[in-house]
This record gives sequence, structure tokens and C-alpha cells, in this order.
Amino acid sequence: EAPASTPPSDLSTGVENLVIIGSGPAGYTAAIYAARANLKPVVFEGYQVGGVPGGQLMTTTEVENFPGFPDGITGPDLMDRIRKQAERWGAELHQEDVEFVNVKSTPFVIRSSDREVKCHSVIIATGATAKRLRLPREDEFWSRGISACAICDGASPLFKGQVLAVVGGGDTATEEAVYLTKYACHVHLLVRRDQLRASKAMQDRVLNNPNITVHFNTEAVDVVSNTKGQMSGIQLKRIDTGEESVLEVKGLFYGIGHTPNSQLLQGQIELDNAGYILVEEGTAKTSVDGVFAAGDVQDHEWRQAVTAAGSGCVAALSVERYLVTND
Ligand code: FAD
Repeated sequence: EAPASTPPSDLSTGVENLVIIGSGPAGYTAAIYAARANLKPVVFEGYQVGGVPGGQLMTTTEVENFPGFPDGITGPDLMDRIRKQAERWGAELHQEDVEFVNVKSTPFVIRSSDREVKCHSVIIATGATAKRLRLPREDEFWSRGISACAICDGASPLFKGQVLAVVGGGDTATEEAVYLTKYACHVHLLVRRDQLRASKAMQDRVLNNPNITVHFNTEAVDVVSNTKGQMSGIQLKRIDTGEESVLEVKGLFYGIGHTPNSQLLQGQIELDNAGYILVEEGTAKTSVDGVFAAGDVQDHEWRQAVTAAGSGCVAALSVERYLVTND
């Protein structure tokens, strides 16, 4: 139901209520809520990830932890459903990348290759991109042995009970390694440096865990496969001696961080040192009034589809309140 105090649409002056940038769970959920509140949101879906809208989940197979799907659902199916729900409520969807944003003065200006839109409010839901090692056979084994998310994939039959490896030496990698010991029979942590960068507490948890072996001064060079084309190991190289070897593992997890897609906003709103959009704690508010952020572009910690969707909801409800207050 639309709320009683729906903000008036300002289409007569060519200024939209709301532009949403991004088409992951955060962007589409924001679109559902905003459309149901009669804000007539304009959504720039982008096509950066794999040339299709839908965000990171378009690059995965089964999603087993999104509520409402007891038997799991594929990432593309889930995103198709959320997209349809946004469309059904009247969100205006454009499969275009935003190339320019000006939120330094109002109305805000959002421009893609095909159109320019002026608006009173913006939700940035451009997501983040998992950093990759760019191994020669990485694309071949992405989602078939290589993963960037232990919480998402650790319990998958592909990895359960197997020997696994995690790459990285910071908090993400050490947390992934500890998490994976719940499912794997052993975890190898591959660290390029001669020490861990993680917090002291995480270092202790890893170094004292008999199910984790830490390999310092070691980098992954490529994936090794068996005659059936399945991952059977990783080729390693010692940084200090140059010595090469093969480590037998059935899965490789990247814990080397994410890059938030916030370049469009650089110099216009506050970002943290890693480029994540800073929001007021517990809200979707950025440092600029009328500009809100949702999903992985402002979340370096949880990075889940359901948390992204939840923050998209918060952002849309905040926009609704903002437009009423600033009418
Ligand atoms: P994203 O999904 O990153 O979407 C951002 C969107 O914004 C993209 O469509 C992008 O093209 C678009 N965009 C970026 N820049 C622009 C621009 N300039 N103009 C227009 N559009 C733009 N989470 C789970 O909960 N369960 C899982 O099982 C799970 N599995 C995963 C498997 C993989 C392989 C990966 C990579 C992630 C997985 N995740 C999983 C994490 C989950 O996908 C993310 O937390 C979630 O997608 C974040 O949603 P988002 O809306 O913030 O951004």
C-alpha cells in the first residue's frame, strides 16, 4: 500500500524524485519499496558485471542462504525474480551504466551514455567487485572450485569434507580460513608475505588451529586439474626461493578483499580509505543530504545478498521520509 503522505512527483519540471544506481539485491529492493511508495524511481541497472544487470549473483550458481528458498535458487533466477518485482510496481529500468554524477548542487544530475536525469534524491547501490588473482585458468574454475565467499560456498557439496586453500593474509582471509574449517577436512592459508596482516586475535586463532596450515612467502600460480577437468590442486611458488610445487586441494578461496564501485562519487561524498561510501551508523545517509547508499558499496563487513537487500529497503524508506520533509 502507498503511504498516506506520498511526496508529489515533480515531473512537470523534469526533476525526478529518485534515481537508483545499481541492479543488485540492494538496488532492486530499493526500487520495489520506492515504486510501491509512488516515487516512480528511475533505475540505472548498469551492465558492468558480465554485460547483464543483476549484480554479483549473476556470476554464481546456487544461492542457499537467501530466505524463502528452502531448496536454494540459482543467482540469476533470484535476481530475475527481484527485478520482475521492481518492474511490476512500476520502477523505470534502464540497462545503462551511469557515467557521470553531480551531487554537489541540487537538483542532482545523473548521466548515462543515453540520457541525463535530474533528481531530488539518489540511492547509490553500485556494489563491489571481489578482487581476483587473475590466474591463467581462473575463469575456467570460477564457481567450479574457485570462490570469493566462504560464507556463501563453504557448505557446498563441492567443498564439504575436502582439503581447501585460502589466499590472503588479512582479516578477510583469516576469517575465511577459520570459517571453512567447519566444513573442510583441512585448510591451507597461502600468504605472500612472511607474516599475517590480520588482527592479533585472528592471527592467534589461525596459528593455533590444528586444521589450518599457514604457508608464508607463498603465492598461487595456477589451478591444476585432473583428467576429468576438475580442480585437483594449485601450483604454488615460494616468493623467497622461487621453488615451485603442487598443493592438492579441491577448492581455492580468495580472501584478498573487494573494490567498492564508488569511483563515480569520488570527491563528492565521503568515502573511507578503501573507497567504501561512509554512511551514518545504522542508516543509509551519506555525507550529502538526499544521497543515500545501500549494499556492498557501503558495507565492507557482511557482504551478503540479504543484508544488501535490507539496506536497499532502509535507503528507499529514508528517501521517502527525506522527500516528505524537504518538500
Ligand atoms: P551488486 O550485486 O554488486 O550489484 C551492483 C550493481 O551495480 C551491478 O549490477 C553493477 O553492474 C551495477 N553498477 C555498478 N556501477 C554502475 C554504474 N556506474 N552505473 C549503473 N550500474 C552500475 N551472497 C549471499 O548472500 N549468498 C550467496 O550465496 C552469495 N554468493 C556469491 C557468489 C559470488 C560468486 C559472489 C561474487 C558473491 C556472492 N554473494 C552471495 C555476495 C552477494 O552477491 C553480494 O553481497 C550482493 O550481490 C551485493 O549486492 P549489491 O546490490 O550491493 O551489489
